[in-house]
Amino acid sequence: MTFEVGRVYNRKSEIHEVYGGQRQGGISTPTNQPMIFLFTSEAGEGYGYEDRFHEDGTFWYTGEGQVGDMEMVRGNAAVRDHASSGKTLCLFEYVKKGYVRFISEATYIGHHYEQRPDRDGQFRQAVIFELDLSVEGSAPIAAQGVSTSVVATQRELWKKPLSELRQLATLQSESATKVNERRLAVRLRSEAVKTYVLRRANGYCECCGKPAPFQRKSDHRFYLEPHHVHRMADGGPDHPTFVAAVCPNCHREVHYGEHGDEMNQRLAEKIAAIERTL
Ligand SMILES: [Zn+2]
Ligand SMILES: [Zn+2]
Repeated sequence: MTFEVGRVYNRKSEIHEVYGGQRQGGISTPTNQPMIFLFTSEAGEGYGYEDRFHEDGTFWYTGEGQVGDMEMVRGNAAVRDHASSGKTLCLFEYVKKGYVRFISEATYIGHHYEQRPDRDGQFRQAVIFELDLSVEGSAPIAAQGVSTSVVATQRELWKKPLSELRQLATLQSESATKVNERRLAVRLRSEAVKTYVLRRANGYCECCGKPAPFQRKSDHRFYLEPHHVHRMADGGPDHPTFVAAVCPNCHREVHYGEHGDEMNQRLAEKIAAIERTL
């Protein structure tokens, strides 16, 4: 992979001056490069751009077009057709002006339309892409012999051996052809990642090492929260190496604490070390 997950890049000097592509806006399509850049930022919410994880595990990314109805042309069409045109979607998020963090490669799953305000505050039709944040080095679902027609419940997943769970947590959805199958595949993986990290943590916070503070009402399991060490937003599927199970205290501190960044860095290294031994 060209970009390193979790690394912060200078958008101008390290991305566009190297690969080309539009230097402004959310979707950038460099000529003669096998990639399309997608940029997301919390600042975008002001213009009706509200990118986030959906409960099925897909990442919802707002298409381009600042005023009026969005149309399936230019950058939007490029995102929809990236697989057939042989281009990889590379998703970045803004950390500050001019600087973006590489989140992951992404795969187009489907899209739908929503009413969102445009730059002038007028409601218009917006294209919302449903993306699967890809997993590095994983095998296609078909090769794993997994039926995507069945979404395993957390309860079923919980009973699986850790190794099998890990395999499910790293499934690719690309080989599934129908949109619904792909969505199911993403959902399955998303659940598998959550369950996997909880099982790996085994009731102890992977950050401070203390026992989980309480047990859940629903199933009496120890309560810990999944935290993604390489991006702002938690949720959605991604590689188990990048997700930790942490206690609510540590989780708040990592996101909002004065020393949150350093804490997160240590946690990322700890998880990577644990994963290497598994
Ligand atoms: Zn903790
Ligand atoms: Zn988190």
